[in-house]
Amino acid sequence: MRRYSIQTKIVLPFLLLFALITIFVPLLTVQLFGWKYSEQFTRETQGWLNVIIETGFIRENIEKVKQTYSVEVMIFGSDGTLNASTLTELSDVEQNWENLAEKMRFEQVKQALQKADGTPVTQDVTLDGKHYKAFYRLLPFGRFYCFLRPMEDITAAKRTLTWSMLGIAAFVTVLVAFISHRIGKNITEPVKDLVGFTEQVAGGNLDEQCEIKTHDEIGDLTLAFNQMTQELKQSRDKLIQVERLATAGKMSASFAHEIRNPLSSMRMLSQMLMQKPETSDEQRQSLQYILEEIERIDNIVKGLMDFARPTTLNLAQQPLVPALQAVLALMEANLEHHQIQLVPELASDLPDFQFDSDKIKQAFMNVVLNAMEAMPQGGTLTVAASKQEDAVCIKVTDIGIGISAEDIEHLFEPFFTRKDKGTGLGLANVKRILEEHNGTVEIESAPDEGTTVLMCLPLKFQD
Ligand code: ADP
Ligand code: MG
Repeated sequence: MRRYSIQTKIVLPFLLLFALITIFVPLLTVQLFGWKYSEQFTRETQGWLNVIIETGFIRENIEKVKQTYSVEVMIFGSDGTLNASTLTELSDVEQNWENLAEKMRFEQVKQALQKADGTPVTQDVTLDGKHYKAFYRLLPFGRFYCFLRPMEDITAAKRTLTWSMLGIAAFVTVLVAFISHRIGKNITEPVKDLVGFTEQVAGGNLDEQCEIKTHDEIGDLTLAFNQMTQELKQSRDKLIQVERLATAGKMSASFAHEIRNPLSSMRMLSQMLMQKPETSDEQRQSLQYILEEIERIDNIVKGLMDFARPTTLNLAQQPLVPALQAVLALMEANLEHHQIQLVPELASDLPDFQFDSDKIKQAFMNVVLNAMEAMPQGGTLTVAASKQEDAVCIKVTDIGIGISAEDIEHLFEPFFTRKDKGTGLGLANVKRILEEHNGTVEIESAPDEGTTVLMCLPLKFQD
């Protein structure tokens, strides 16, 4: 089946209807006007005829009648022969009795005249290429009188009127077509945009938003669709994240144990070798490197195991600030060593609420460690805790190297790291811990300016 656009479907029927109306109404008007005029014209002429015949004006001079009424006059004998005529310029052929009789349908006229007992008979005739309306009247002795009123002017007027009305109709139709096209376009353009956008979304591109051009139902539809796309994108991203975490978790669980055992043997043997008196200084140095690398692998494995550990929360109703302070106390020496000044802004009036102290400490520690590592030349670390509506938020701000816009999107992915000795599991763990608490974590950062990590925990924990 042929596909018609909405615009065509809306505009075309109305346009056709309108064109029909604009063409037929003027034609009908002209026609009606013609009928009315013709009626009036006949009545008027018959009036003249009555006056002429009753006053005997006819007998005086047909030329005078012609001048007075601007008509042609013909008088026929009872046998139909032309007795007198003002139409002197008629060609010989037309003057010919048989021709004339046929043209003016004498037989018919005669019969009509006899039946009509005195009332005039009319008919349309063309003589010498001109149109006339002929009015017949019976005269004494079977003669009859024909009064010919020229119709040229009326026909011309009618034609002009018809054409001008059709011209106006055509112009108005074109105008209406143009206007309705514009209106239709205004309505369908945003729909077209939306259709294009839905195709994009169907193709898997969830990153864009459809521009809202109109503030009407279509605008609302676009807005709703944009929201839907956004939500779809969020849940898709979440799904990908969850899948990654699950895979990473499974992998970590199976590898971690296998790696840690040989690792401790290696550590022990290296330490034993180091303690042997025959080991040279050079060998000792190498062994030191080996031990450091073992330490590094052990850290990664520890991170993996944290990651893979079954997630059961050990919830307790408790204050948050002491937990944070415990972590900061542990880090104090380290921060001092890195010449980082700590600015604590921990609100003293925070309510107690339910959370898993160990996990929150672990998350907080990861964030503080990242901040510290972001300021290798030292700096200021601000740690704030405050109440926000129905949540408690921890804000960790550093003035370190910051994060590029393209990295920001990947921070929570497991194994995403920009550090030579990083595991890329810190923030993935932070996110998981916060989500287990139904909380959120957000990161804002500008390269070379610093980073703010905001972690919020709900005051009322809901399963
Ligand atoms: P890791 O610390 O092992 O690299 P994380 O998951 O803790 O893994 O962090 C991932 C990456 O995020 C880091 O490598 C670093 O590039 C970036 N990052 C995290 N926190 C900060 C911060 N405070 N300042 C700058 N970069 C950061
Ligand atoms: Mg880290």
